[in-house]
Amino acid sequence: MKRGYAVELQGLEKRFGPVRVLKDLSLEIRSGELVALLGPSGCGKTTTLFLIAGLYRPTAGRILFDGRPVDHLHPRERDIGMVFQSYALYPHMTLFENIAFPLRLKRITEAEVRTRVTRVAELLGIGNLLSRRPTEVSGGQQQRAALARALIKEPGLLLLDEPLSNLDARIRIQARSEIRRLQLELGITTVLVTHDQGEALAMADRVAVMRDGELQQYGSPEELYSRPANVFVASFVGDPPINLYRGRFVAAGFEGEVRLPIPGSLPAGEGYLGIRPEAVEVVAEGEGLPAQILLQEPLGREVLLTPGLEGGGQLKCLLPGGRLPTGDRVWIRLNPQGLHFFDREGRRRDASLAPGA
Ligand code: ATP
Repeated sequence: MKRGYAVELQGLEKRFGPVRVLKDLSLEIRSGELVALLGPSGCGKTTTLFLIAGLYRPTAGRILFDGRPVDHLHPRERDIGMVFQSYALYPHMTLFENIAFPLRLKRITEAEVRTRVTRVAELLGIGNLLSRRPTEVSGGQQQRAALARALIKEPGLLLLDEPLSNLDARIRIQARSEIRRLQLELGITTVLVTHDQGEALAMADRVAVMRDGELQQYGSPEELYSRPANVFVASFVGDPPINLYRGRFVAAGFEGEVRLPIPGSLPAGEGYLGIRPEAVEVVAEGEGLPAQILLQEPLGREVLLTPGLEGGGQLKCLLPGGRLPTGDRVWIRLNPQGLHFFDREGRRRDASLAPGA
């Protein structure tokens, strides 16, 4: 397998008539990296992918593959493989013919076609299904056939647009790991479009979070989770979602939709407080903040607890299962690492907290 492209998007803008759907998007993607474009419906993910593929022309900005501008190149000249949400396999053709299709346009001998189709199908675990038609295999197998068809030309770049969304939850998790394993094995640069934060975090080396055509943050899953750049990223990344409150930071803590003492030096003034559900600990009586249990939702290995704070407001906490608090009162403590502070515009602020806040 050859080396995957390094891709650069420089100040990309896309308008459809008067509507600006992409605003000044710049990203660099390293060779062999898997980057996820993550955001809610309509934020411009597919538009970005189509620009990279050459299916759309940018209104402004440039796209470079390995340092060379590709804006003048037709999609077919860009050396990319694409897999869409609807796999778009040809229903009247066998999986073999579907996978072989991109090679048919080239002058390649039948023996060579056979060798290459067999090799890529084996790689994806569908080698024994090649004589079947798409309707005669499962959704997961169709998805692998679509991937095989995208990979057969050994493209420099793989573009995946919600490729897993037609699969049921269990196969989806399995398909995620398979695609990631294959991508790492082949070292193929990949851009994945998804609105599923779990999928993005699980699969990507780096994630670009988008909103309304604008990049919000670009970083590793770890960075997005532990240092979200703003309130949008904080609430979009993480499951169950972060507890987010509006209010005012004062010397002793936070006053607003919840009132919490937070020891340490806080950014003063109005803003938002974010508390990750997994950053809340239940402690022994009298050793934390008193709270009333409003709801307990068992999630298997964990339990989602909703305590109402005695000072007002409530929060969601994710606790290990099997240690359910008994009675309707608990004492909770917040882990400073799971606390996030934002200014009134929702931008991240840093604070130095005393341990055991
Ligand atoms: P989804 O997850 O729903 O596919 P997305 O993030 O991929 O969303 P895009 O498909 O890139 O979003 O669309 C971005 C915005 O551009 C949307 O508001 C959409 O309505 C608009 N848009 C997309 N294509 C066109 C078009 N051809 N003409 C006008 N507006 C368009």
